[in-house]
Amino acid sequence: MANTEADSSLMKKIVSLCKRRGFLFQSSEIYGGLNGFWDYGPLGVELKRNIKRAWWQDMVTGHDDLNVVENAPSVFSMTGIDSTIIMHPQIWKCSGHYDLFHDYMVDCKQSKRRYRHDQIVGRWVEAKGQKIFVTTLASEACESEIESKALKFFKLRAKNKEDLVYSSEVIDLISVEETTSVLAPEAKALDTLTSPREFNLMFKTTVGALGGEDDVAFLRPETAQGIFVNFKNVIDSTRFRLPLGIAQIGKSFRNEITPRNFTFRSREFEQMEIEFFCHPDDSAKWYSYWRDRRLSWYHTMGISEKSLIMREHHADELAHYSIGTADIEYAFPFLPEGEYGELEGVAHRGDFDLRSHMEGKLDEKSNPLEVQLNEKGKPKYRGSGKDLQYRDDLTNEKYTPHVIEPSAGADRATLAFLCEAYYEDEAPDENGKMQLRTVMRFHPRIAPIKAAVFPLVKKDEFQSKTARDIYLALKREFNVFYDETAAIGKRYRRQDEAGTPYCITVDGDSVTDQSVTIRERDSLEQIRIPIDSVVSEIRNRILG
Ligand code: ATP
Repeated sequence: MANTEADSSLMKKIVSLCKRRGFLFQSSEIYGGLNGFWDYGPLGVELKRNIKRAWWQDMVTGHDDLNVVENAPSVFSMTGIDSTIIMHPQIWKCSGHYDLFHDYMVDCKQSKRRYRHDQIVGRWVEAKGQKIFVTTLASEACESEIESKALKFFKLRAKNKEDLVYSSEVIDLISVEETTSVLAPEAKALDTLTSPREFNLMFKTTVGALGGEDDVAFLRPETAQGIFVNFKNVIDSTRFRLPLGIAQIGKSFRNEITPRNFTFRSREFEQMEIEFFCHPDDSAKWYSYWRDRRLSWYHTMGISEKSLIMREHHADELAHYSIGTADIEYAFPFLPEGEYGELEGVAHRGDFDLRSHMEGKLDEKSNPLEVQLNEKGKPKYRGSGKDLQYRDDLTNEKYTPHVIEPSAGADRATLAFLCEAYYEDEAPDENGKMQLRTVMRFHPRIAPIKAAVFPLVKKDEFQSKTARDIYLALKREFNVFYDETAAIGKRYRRQDEAGTPYCITVDGDSVTDQSVTIRERDSLEQIRIPIDSVVSEIRNRILG
């Protein structure tokens, strides 16, 4: 489907605001940048940190472990860990990443561009007695793009577009067997794509000074494995009983073939993952609990219902051990209308991971309980050999827990919150004239700056001192901003663009009524409140 003009221009505006206001910068920009890597600027670091903090607070530290929380099957516990990025290489053999974590890439010999094979789509087009397959990238898969490429190739003018005869709808390149007639996305001639080659997405490194093949290690492609291999440590070192969720936030690395769409597909990114361990008999209930809970978390943090969907995977998309996986997807503006991009996956992983780390990697096609043997009769991929089962001290039952995994990306969530927050409306300028304003409508909990404090007149000693005192009092609890430059309307607008929910202005009346004005970012409502209640007012408004 066509990418609407409005959406791609919206994305351009968001990207430009991110750079202009210091949310996101291209990594290593002064050296020309490094594809797939992004730096967070002063506003971006606060936004992303607030999102991670809200997630940790809502999922882990703020969790009520004494009562059955809403819609949960029973009482449960939550805790966290922080494991290393580089771990024993055997972990990646047993998890399956060493053998299975790959994409297929194709190179274009003419444009020197590299693509993920599954991202190229196209249409068969015929003109001047020749039939060719015109391709483009999936997310830009608009008919007009293919049409203009075909017109160029056949040297036809736009007014002669009727001369193009389409013999297919848009289809995937993967389904095209005849490669000599393929026009690659950025090529001018036919048949420039190499055959697809397998490419493991894990970054390799070496541990120690010698750096031989035996010292090869990998940067983790997900944080989840650090939780599985520490499951026993957590159980043994605490008094937690199952059901128990163990959470982790941390960097992950994937050598993506085609990083794209701003931070959506990066090579270095952060994940917020929970491995929720429970009794196998209850796992289906917990799966549905976590699916619903994670979806509603995004809503409570300000993502509208219409921008978010839950997509349940079809049976043929599921791994053999999984009885369900659902993706929470967001309508990113860079996607064609009606399409959504993954924000988070919630997967029922059965006992696959713990068993793999006990017994070795299990063959996908065989009975997952059977360990595969090599020609010498040894298990193919040796697990840790450790007993990672759980013994219930009340019932004395011993079992390998099932796992539900809500796995979210902190950078994708940040991008979704940025896209969702971007809003244009009209507000009065300093002369009271209605003017277009750009406002980032972040939920107050994640807003990078919670409040800005202004003296209306900089040179007024009372106003300036009172504003500074309020600023310092708020600063003990929140990230706040002080500004005494420019006209008040301009100061408001600067804060609107940064997404600051509240502006506090000390004015000429403040000396007599000991009050200040609080202006709310979205409604533009202004109310007077006593100076000595500013901190509690802001606290109540932010924490709800
Ligand atoms: P995709 O299909 O988009 O590659 P995935 O299904 O491989 O994603 P998971 O392995 O389930 O992703 O990872 C969990 C979450 O981590 C994703 O939902 C996403 O938010 C985040 N994530 C994964 N890969 C990337 C990436 N390259 N850049 C940014 N975030 C990512």
